[in-house]
Amino acid sequence: MHRLVYYSANRLRKTPAEMTLDIEQILEKSRQNNATVGVTGALIFSEGYFGQVLEGPQNAVEATFERIQNDVRHGEVLLLEFVPIEKRSFDNWAMAYVGQDSSATALFDSIAPQTGFDGDRMKAQALLSKLENMVSVAA
Ligand code: FAD
Repeated sequence: MHRLVYYSANRLRKTPAEMTLDIEQILEKSRQNNATVGVTGALIFSEGYFGQVLEGPQNAVEATFERIQNDVRHGEVLLLEFVPIEKRSFDNWAMAYVGQDSSATALFDSIAPQTGFDGDRMKAQALLSKLENMVSVAA
């Protein structure tokens, strides 16, 4: 079993209504596809960024991430972590959605320095912890 953590630049259309519709479509498709291949995870976004955790069998996570990377609804996809894990963090969620959260903007600002995208393991842990906390609060 593997976990993949990435973040990316949000390129969704910008009115709130359009963005909500786009997110709904992404979630619906994600939940269908992920349930079929045993992938679970969580998704968060701010106006500027997406952050996502994918976990499951290595091949399924890789294939899912390949498709996600080619999606024009976001860009500058930056892999923060791809590691073996013993246990899932989001085992009840084909794709948990923690929504657009104002504190996410601060988190993304701290993991995406002004100089550009720059990932590392600490940032993966920060994003993972944030998502774990938000999903457990929402559950
Ligand atoms: P289809 O849904 O039939 O799509 C065919 C092609 O059209 C794909 O290239 C797709 O990217 C593109 N496409 C579809 N709708 C739109 C649209 N409205 N605008 C632009 N292009 C479009 N998919 C998952 O399976 N699991 C995930 O966890 C997941 N997370 C995602 C997170 C983010 C932030 C984003 C942006 C996308 C995510 N997706 C996820 C969607 C993924 O990128 C693919 O669109 C999807 O997996 C393709 O599904 P499909 O092969 O059934 O093709």
